Amino acid sequence: MKVALVGAGPGDPGLMTARALELIAAADVILHDKLIPAEALDGARPGALLVDVGKIGGGPQVPQDETTRLLLEHAASGARVVRLKGGDPFVFGRGGEEAQALRAAGHAFEVVPGVTSGVAAPAYAGIPVTQRGVASAVAFVTGHEDPGKPETAIDWPALAAFPGTLVFYMGVRQLPRISEQLMAAGRAADEPAAVVERGTFGDQRTVLATLGTLPDRAAAEGVRPPSITVVGPVAALHAEIDWLPARPLLGSTVAVTRARAQASALAARLRALGARVVEAPAIRIEPLPVELPALADFDLLCVTSPNGAERLLEVVRDARALAGPTIAAIGPGTARALRAGGIEPDVVPPRAVAESLLEVLEDRAVRRALIAGAQEARDVLPEGLRTRGAEVSTLALYRTVVEPLDDAARAAVLGAAYATFASASAARFFHDAAGTLDGPRLISIGPATSAAIRELGFEPHVEAIDHTPDGLVEVLVASAAAAGAVGR
Ligand code: SAH
Repeated sequence: MKVALVGAGPGDPGLMTARALELIAAADVILHDKLIPAEALDGARPGALLVDVGKIGGGPQVPQDETTRLLLEHAASGARVVRLKGGDPFVFGRGGEEAQALRAAGHAFEVVPGVTSGVAAPAYAGIPVTQRGVASAVAFVTGHEDPGKPETAIDWPALAAFPGTLVFYMGVRQLPRISEQLMAAGRAADEPAAVVERGTFGDQRTVLATLGTLPDRAAAEGVRPPSITVVGPVAALHAEIDWLPARPLLGSTVAVTRARAQASALAARLRALGARVVEAPAIRIEPLPVELPALADFDLLCVTSPNGAERLLEVVRDARALAGPTIAAIGPGTARALRAGGIEPDVVPPRAVAESLLEVLEDRAVRRALIAGAQEARDVLPEGLRTRGAEVSTLALYRTVVEPLDDAARAAVLGAAYATFASASAARFFHDAAGTLDGPRLISIGPATSAAIRELGFEPHVEAIDHTPDGLVEVLVASAAAAGAVGR
């Protein structure tokens, strides 16, 4: 089957189905909604065409006709097409209409159900939508999101008479109407009701109140879309069953400035801790053509970054070529990338910096060393080895290039509470793209990155003790806790 209508689930990437991940990995073209898990496209092929049909260049939503036209056009081209939708494709997702259009045009297709937000958001808030003896039916309801439009689709008296839980897939602006109409049709004002904002995302919030008080409570808490509203006695179970662990970065916005490929792992970790993440991949990794020297001629091979490790494994092809030299990884991330390719590094320094690697290499005799990594790498390592009498060659495996930053991304990053910098080049390139580092607290991964930030005229807020992405997250959490303690 070449075309698939696929549900991406409500937001937590862990709730994507195995079939969804499989189809995403195989797709040539992915037409996706805006409201999908931030990590949903991570597994797409590097060459896949990703089209955001949820918006036009940050502007309004692509009209449904245009989405359907694109879907049919790509289907006709013979490409493997995934139409990726938030939640379940057939629950208020217009997936049914797209299926009809595909059928009418004679294209075979597959439907992959997704975890729908109307069940998942309440579940993550500790609200079972049915409960023995409390609610033995559940109704999923939507309406026009536009309050300017007269509402004709909803039969309020019938809904009010429904013997079970009511789940509304409607904007928070509709809350006053939901509340008024249901009460006018006879539902009790003191019936439990809850609204779940950004259900299953790291920054999910729940407000539990009653049908009568929910609109004001939600407004007071500043609840924003997307949100699910639950009306019925099961809503009250939130107080008892709420199970989500405390998230130390809840309410903090964190900008991640690493290259796109690595940013996502760090971003996912930050999101899981409750942060709102702004991804500003100021840099992009560009592989360089590599003429591999005879590695057997070297007694030491230093791999100076995870990207370098990945690219090296790519260009080496035959692992036996790496059998000769002692292999040094500059840090745990690089060691991990080497291990992923079946290479166990001989040397990994305790701190992921050139100085530390030089230290642990101190008592080894090195005649000929090859240093493999970024084109723009620092001179510390080659210089240090040369001073000890080694003959040093360098092998540029890739270079880091600036990724242009649009105005919205720039404003979002500079408006964030924290900005993370995982390399000196990320700091320099981001500064190039944004013109400043003024605004967020600057979190640096280590001394070289801090030095680069200072050279640009700014001061890091904190520096990671452990110079790895985990270390970066650790100091960020500590810093947020300290800021929280003084009331920020
Ligand atoms: N097909 C989707 C629903 C699309 S309609 C699904 O099955 O979930 C869009 C509405 O869904 C939003 O207006 C909001 O009410 C709700 N919604 C989608 N994702 C949500 C989430 N993560 N948390 C809360 N509500 C969500």
